[in-house]
Parts: sequence; structure tokens; C-alpha cells
Amino acid sequence: MVGKLYLVATPIGNLEDITLRAINVLKKVDLIAAEDTRHTLQLLNHLEISKPLVSYYKQNEKYKKELIIEKLEEGKNVAIVSDAGTPAISDPGEEVVRYAIEKNIDVIPIPGANAAISALICSGLNTNQFTFIGFLPTNKKEKKEILEDIKQEKRTLIFYEAPHKLTKTLEDIKEILGNREIALARELTKLHEEFIRGDIQSVLKNLGEPRGEFVIIVEGSKLGEREAQIEDLKQLSLEKHYEFYQNLGMNKKEIIKQIAKDRKVEKNEIYQYFM
Ligand code: SAM
Repeated sequence: MVGKLYLVATPIGNLEDITLRAINVLKKVDLIAAEDTRHTLQLLNHLEISKPLVSYYKQNEKYKKELIIEKLEEGKNVAIVSDAGTPAISDPGEEVVRYAIEKNIDVIPIPGANAAISALICSGLNTNQFTFIGFLPTNKKEKKEILEDIKQEKRTLIFYEAPHKLTKTLEDIKEILGNREIALARELTKLHEEFIRGDIQSVLKNLGEPRGEFVIIVEGSKLGEREAQIEDLKQLSLEKHYEFYQNLGMNKKEIIKQIAKDRKVEKNEIYQYFM
């Protein structure tokens, strides 16, 4: 009989945030695949569990999954754990899950701590519908492209970010998505847990040098598609704004009227400009 693959959530700070079921599964499995074996060993020592550990992290995920599947096919039960929180959420796990499914191996979630959901539920922003973005790319161009992509997203947005990149990322979000309401969740479940809420500008003003771990929750776009388009057109030069409507086949009079409406200025002002 083949074994089962368990995805076990572990604490994101407070060691009490581990479920009874997670403890029982960690006691019962034959092997634990851990993102950082030294880190997981500390947790296992705390729980008084002694188990064989194998390292399983993003860079060795592709070949370590073979070893894990081999063990499962030998009938061994395997638990995947990451350094903190839920495996496969901005952490290794996805590859081995896909591979296990291909091999008809049961994949079993052992739910528990997750930074994104913990931050969202205390954000004060809309929790009904949300989009998890996770870490933005480090590459400037790719980062900008993703932010442009989600600019019109109406659902609440969830980002993970490293402390040394937090200020820049908040500035980038403000530049592309506008000065929205946000909630920064810092050091969740730890001694210095803190929620900083407000618009991006005011949060940035009071932030100082970010220390610790952060989740950024950003309110979704309040603009409809046309309103968002007008916001974009207003960022352009008057010539480009004109060109946009010209390409839609509008005549000069109509264009001037529309530009004045978009920019909330007198028609005559736009008319004079294009004289
Ligand atoms: N798998 C994890 C989970 O379920 O939340 C996420 C792992 S990801 C590599 C690490 C990121 O999650 C951090 O950079 C931070 O953005 C967020 N995070 C993890 N623990 C946190 C905590 N205690 N407080 C705030 N953010 C945390």
C-alpha cells in the first residue's frame, strides 16, 4: 500500500499555534520533509517529537520530490512542513503535491497558521473577496507589470514583503494603484504584533525603518472600468489624451468636450490649448 502525503501547517511565530492534529500527524509519519531541517528540528524538539528529516526547499524541489514519492510508493507516510505557516503558500510544496496527484497518492491538508489570512481578518478591509498576490518580483519591470495588471482588481489584495523592501513596495503600490487604504500586519502572533492602518501616504509617514515580518493588505479598486480609464488618460499629455479619442473616431469638438469633462476643467481651457 502506498503512503499518504500530509501538508502540515506550523506556527508563524507563536509556538502554541499548532493544532492537535498537526502534532499527531508529525508523530505518526515516517518522514518529515522540511524547508530548513534545523528550523524544523527546533519545533520538533519543542513538541518532543523525534523523526527522520529530509530537506525540501525551492531550489532542490525538482529532484527531492522524486525521493519523497519513492518513499510514499514504498508505503511510508510523509509530512511536508515549511519554516512557518502553511506549506505551498509562497513556500515549497506545490511541485510535490502535483507529482503525488499524478502518481495517485493521497494528499491531505493539515490546516493551521497562515500569515495572509491572519492579516486579512484583522485588516478592517473587505474580507468577502480577496486576491492573494504573495511576493512581487524583484525585477523592477516585472513588478510594475504585475501592479499594472491588478490595478483594476476590486477584491482586497494581499502581499507578502521582506522588511528591507517594504517602503519601496508601498511607494510602488501608491504610484500605480493610488493612495489606497491599507493595513500592515507586522510580526503576527509574536510579542511585537502590530497593525498599522490608514492610507499608504500616512502609513509611510509614520513607518520609520521597517523591522520584522510584514503582510500588506490593500483595499481593492473602487473605480469602474471607465473611471479607471479616465484616471489613466489624465496621466497622459493633452496631446496623447486627444489622440486617444481621435482614434475612436471622435471629431475635434467632441474630443475637447470630453477631455474637459475627464479633467474637470473648463472646455475653453482645452480649446485654447489646441488652438
Ligand atoms: N507559508 C507562509 C504562510 O502560510 O503564511 C508564508 C511564507 S513566506 C516565505 C514568508 C512571508 O510571509 C514573510 O515575508 C511575510 O510577508 C509573511 N509572514 C510570515 N510570518 C509572518 C508573521 N508572523 N507576521 C507577518 N508576516 C508574516
